[in-house]
Amino acid sequence: MGNKLLERLDKDFMLVAEGYIFELERRGFIKAGPFVPEVVLEHPEAVRQLHREFLRSGSDVIVACTYYGHRSKLKSIGKEDRLEALNKQSLTLAREVADESGALVAGNLSNTWEYDPGNLEKSIKAVRAIFKEQVKWAAEANADFVIAETMGHVGEAMIALEEIKSAGLPAVITFSPASPNSCDGYTWAEACKILEDNGADVVGMNCGRGPRTIMPMLSEIRQKVRGHVAALPVPYRTDNHSPCFFELRLPDGKNAFPVALDPFLHTRFEMAEFAVEARNMGINYIGICCGAGPHHVRAMAEALGRNVPASRYSPEMDLHPIFGDEESQKRKYRECLYGPIRE
Ligand SMILES: [Zn+2]
Repeated sequence: MGNKLLERLDKDFMLVAEGYIFELERRGFIKAGPFVPEVVLEHPEAVRQLHREFLRSGSDVIVACTYYGHRSKLKSIGKEDRLEALNKQSLTLAREVADESGALVAGNLSNTWEYDPGNLEKSIKAVRAIFKEQVKWAAEANADFVIAETMGHVGEAMIALEEIKSAGLPAVITFSPASPNSCDGYTWAEACKILEDNGADVVGMNCGRGPRTIMPMLSEIRQKVRGHVAALPVPYRTDNHSPCFFELRLPDGKNAFPVALDPFLHTRFEMAEFAVEARNMGINYIGICCGAGPHHVRAMAEALGRNVPASRYSPEMDLHPIFGDEESQKRKYRECLYGPIRE
């Protein structure tokens, strides 16, 4: 099997919608807190629908909904017996929708929360076992590549990379920059370089930060690595005071993460600006993470020069009765509000 991921990236940019877990939580199909995607078994139609929405909006990749769908997480909610079915079903749903338009399917690994620098020997074994079985299911389902995302330790990311590569699949490895350095002390640019030098096809960042606070890190990464760079921020207004979306606070001081982030959400236009900035910086695996809606993805695709199926319904505000160009319509509205206009 060729490397479809690199074939595409060598020719053009790719747009990648992530954030399935957040969006399905918002829609009432995933529980915030554990964030385990049992939805693939309980409401497969909801997953299929969201995949289709992202596909129509221009995502070049359908990511199997297996984030936090690994053995340790399922064990923590007493549902380890669902592990294999959950992973296989996620991959099947992703393939089913991707094949409707020729998008690529990505298997998905997340950080496990098991990696422990204080107990390396034992924790490496545990993490490797978790990744090995998930990668095996992805390979059996003919995933085009595997994403290992929201990594915090270079050590854990390396295990993911080794497992993906030993299954013969292309690897996208992205770190989540909650803090200025990796949990094992590397700058993020160094972390990405290490993964690239060890064979990752794409390296970069996803989740954690919004466009404003992720950009300076991306610029360092772009300068440090030779190959393809991934950039998938969350669509939230992080700033120097709260660089990571975990730190955003509501006016009453309460945490906005994860279920009260709405007032910080970026508009589609702002995410479109980010996409263009990333492209101009030489980044060509461009996407969006937790908080993403199909409207963001469509606006990003269009700003990058693409016309996607959902563009058929892109805004045409000149046809709006109040904000449009038609004077007679606007007059009707004014008369409705204020009574007949005297000439
Ligand atoms: Zn995310």
